[in-house]
Amino acid sequence: MKSTYNKVMDDLRGKSLKELLNIFAQLQLPQYKAKETFRQIHHGLKGTIDQISILKKEERALLAEKYQLDQPQVIKHQHEGETEKIAFKLSDNLVIESVLMQYEGERNTVCVSSQVGCPVACQFCATGQMGFKRNLTVGEILSQIYYFATKHKISNVVFMGMGEPLLNYKNVMKAIGILNQELGQNIAKRKIVISTIGITEGIKKLMTETGQLRLAWSLVASFDHLRKELIGMKNLPSISSIVRAIHDYQQKTKRRVTIEYVLLKGINDGPEAINELAEITRKIDSHVNIIPYNEVAGGRFSSGDAERIYEKLKRRRVNVTTRQSLGKKISAACGQLTTK
Ligand code: SAH
Ligand code: SF4
Repeated sequence: MKSTYNKVMDDLRGKSLKELLNIFAQLQLPQYKAKETFRQIHHGLKGTIDQISILKKEERALLAEKYQLDQPQVIKHQHEGETEKIAFKLSDNLVIESVLMQYEGERNTVCVSSQVGCPVACQFCATGQMGFKRNLTVGEILSQIYYFATKHKISNVVFMGMGEPLLNYKNVMKAIGILNQELGQNIAKRKIVISTIGITEGIKKLMTETGQLRLAWSLVASFDHLRKELIGMKNLPSISSIVRAIHDYQQKTKRRVTIEYVLLKGINDGPEAINELAEITRKIDSHVNIIPYNEVAGGRFSSGDAERIYEKLKRRRVNVTTRQSLGKKISAACGQLTTK
């Protein structure tokens, strides 16, 4: 009985400071304790209600009647050099993966999942091939980062793990708001990247958000017909409509957008495709990040020659970099996260 009950318990980790103040008011607990509880959860990284030291035993019991603060269980832990991949079991037994990448002591980046599986169903992506199960809650998004934060100071967060973050817009934005809190992890929005396949509705909503959040667009292919072939999602927005949405977004935010381009040999690395890619980069303020394809079990793709494409784009005066994929041996690199 207890485990069924646990599933419906509301997660305190996903509550904003304002919501926590309201909960405390309703339970007739002192307001100053709500603020300190928020700090202990998001800065002190307390993993159970019992660990919240500002609360008396009876106050913790009162909170625990309706709320929980349990962290997803770590079921697998893998290392490769400076890259660490964790599999977490959620309260309904579904599993997600998250990755920590350490860059020579200068930055610690968490690659976070926003969904279990992904409805966009890209053929070249392991997550896309596992199907879509559900959106992650705010607490589940935060707990991935907090797991790593107990050991390292987290400087950057990238929504490049499992799932399409703009299809879980509300929870992703609420989690970012909490990460940004001074009483919490205090991670600046400019250190947070949302990577999207190009959900125009979401890009439009992003324009209304405050702060210098960064946006990356996974172009995948520079022609619509090829994009449609490679990306399973129905009603996929066209390249021109995404360019328009990003253009409007940039009018407002003035922020450069990264165009991610996963390189698939013989598919999107031909001269016409690369010419068209260069054309698209001129329509928005952008920078291209070439991602050599990472092997996915059962995948029918291989990587194009990233160096050759890099040189080609450089000659056309495109701002370009190549992504160095970390953690390939433990399947922690871009597109390799799955929990089938
Ligand atoms: N759903 C979002 C974020 C997660 S995917 C998005 O697609 O943008 C993060 C990046 O990994 C995307 O740019 C995607 O194109 C890339 N990717 C997916 N599968 C890959 C693979 N097998 N090898 C290399 N990159 C891959
Ligand atoms: Fe989803 Fe991104 Fe993978 Fe496509 S590449 S299936 S959008 S996670």
